[in-house]
Amino acid sequence: MELQVLGTGSSGNCYALYDEQQIVLLDAGIPAKRILRGIDHRVGDVAGCLITHEHQDHCRGARDLYKLGVPMLGTTGTKEALPYIDNNRSMHQRRLGNFSIMDFPVIHDTKEPCGWLLGNTRTGERMLYATDTSGLLFAFPHINYWLIECNYAEELIWDTAPSHRERIRQYHMSMETLATILTRNDLTDCKQIILCHMSRERGDLKLMTRFIAGRTGKPTVMAVEGARIPLNAEPF
Ligand SMILES: [Zn+2]
Ligand SMILES: [Zn+2]
Repeated sequence: MELQVLGTGSSGNCYALYDEQQIVLLDAGIPAKRILRGIDHRVGDVAGCLITHEHQDHCRGARDLYKLGVPMLGTTGTKEALPYIDNNRSMHQRRLGNFSIMDFPVIHDTKEPCGWLLGNTRTGERMLYATDTSGLLFAFPHINYWLIECNYAEELIWDTAPSHRERIRQYHMSMETLATILTRNDLTDCKQIILCHMSRERGDLKLMTRFIAGRTGKPTVMAVEGARIPLNAEPF
């Protein structure tokens, strides 16, 4: 598989996961035009788009993609804001092209925000996508690829205005919390950690990738716009 970063951070989040001829989109927080350009206009190959929540930086292009025939999936709570969504029953697995998908609740300031678990039914690979959350409520075994928010570092947030700082702490993931979460999970099957949704003001690419790689002992990269990240579960 391969993961393409079309947008990440508060200016807009969208990732394309490629498996053979299929594409699954993770969020659609940039204009549809840019998403289409990014995937070479292969809109017919898109099995669906998994939406985490209704903040603009995650759904800006969703409606236009839906109009082009891309199935949009999300929670019942997110559907209240984005009525064109095909809502999942929370924590229930369903099929989407080559993938089995399941949403799970996260901690954020919208009605029913979620993360997504994806299982490739062809290869058995498992990927987790979680963003815009201050933590994870469950442990996730046998994950090969973690695509997960690393928004800020405690040492870079101290001069943020107190009310804003509290909102960030309540609803976004710090580098320190992420390290704790990852090391509490069984990372035996983990091949790659991809950090995402880094804050421009309160994040630092080098500091964060080194910190998480050091704490987990796993290959770690930061998602940056335009990157294409090969995902390979072969032992190395
Ligand atoms: Zn966001
Ligand atoms: Zn958000």
